Amino acid sequence: MDILVTGGAGFLGSYICQRLLELGHKVTAIDMASGEKIEHLMSDRKFTFIQDSVCDLSLMEHQMKNKEVLFHLAAIADPLKYVTNPLNVMEVDLLAAINTFKLAAENRTKIAFSSTSEVFGRNPDIPWKETDDRVLGATSVNRWCYSSSKAACEHFLFALHKQEKLPFIIYRFFNVYGPKLDDLGHGRVIPIFLKQFLHQEEVTVHGDGKQTRTFIYVDDAVDAVVRLAFCKKAENEVFNIGTDDECNMHQLAKTIKKVGGFKSKIKFVDYQQVFGKGFEDIPRRIPDTSKVSKFIKWKAKVSLEEGLRRTIDYYKKKKGL
Ligand code: UDP
Repeated sequence: MDILVTGGAGFLGSYICQRLLELGHKVTAIDMASGEKIEHLMSDRKFTFIQDSVCDLSLMEHQMKNKEVLFHLAAIADPLKYVTNPLNVMEVDLLAAINTFKLAAENRTKIAFSSTSEVFGRNPDIPWKETDDRVLGATSVNRWCYSSSKAACEHFLFALHKQEKLPFIIYRFFNVYGPKLDDLGHGRVIPIFLKQFLHQEEVTVHGDGKQTRTFIYVDDAVDAVVRLAFCKKAENEVFNIGTDDECNMHQLAKTIKKVGGFKSKIKFVDYQQVFGKGFEDIPRRIPDTSKVSKFIKWKAKVSLEEGLRRTIDYYKKKKGL
């Protein structure tokens, strides 16, 4: 198949491109980022990389032609940006996404959309099934702009399907991690902790560290993503992609310390100090993954300790340690 992957040079995108190429597909990746994470794919004749923005409508119009599937992953997904640059979050995650979906509809291209567990907000009834409520704060709180942008995209896909019969699939990811996640020290909690441990700095657990997440290793997530994308039965459905292995942030820091044999001290820092006023964290985030298990007989295989070991090894090697 001829496939377009937006955000194809990003963390998840790079793994998805690789898997699609292994399956014999022709893949075009569009991304603002450099091609560092997809360097190893560049020599593949079936792979094309375009370093550009999904906000460029004429580029997208041209690239969507004759594509059978669109994996739309291009997005700003860094919690700090939700509060420091909400305009940019909405321009990319909402406006550019909707424009891309319209082009896909014109071309009758199936859409595989990367949504997020953030759409559930802070619904206290854990674990969340795909049909559960969204519980969010006021629109004056910038922190929710990411969740709302992704949810509006989901609405748009349901509407496109209802009114124009365009097939789609939606993935709601629950904290995917692994080698190449982010530059050390940036973005999400695991690369931030890892940089601190590797540099023997104090490790910054936000708040009291009792907030929980579940973490899914990238190979497990990509396996589900690609299998679902080509599963007819899964068309026009939403899927939680995650594990039920709940871990609080203090435990996470301690586990990384143990697995990596690190020495850093773990400290607690106030949310306000990091995010400024108006940030609200999600206290617990756990998916119900019975739907994906049922549809494709899938279950995450890599434990948190094993996944962390592989991730730590990757970053140690990268740093020549
Ligand atoms: N976190 C932390 N210390 C850090 C970075 C993040 O304790 O230096 C916490 C953050 O407050 C949140 C959790 O780790 O409770 C997961 O944060 P991340 O940014 O990875 O993404 P989220 O799951 O919140 O979207």
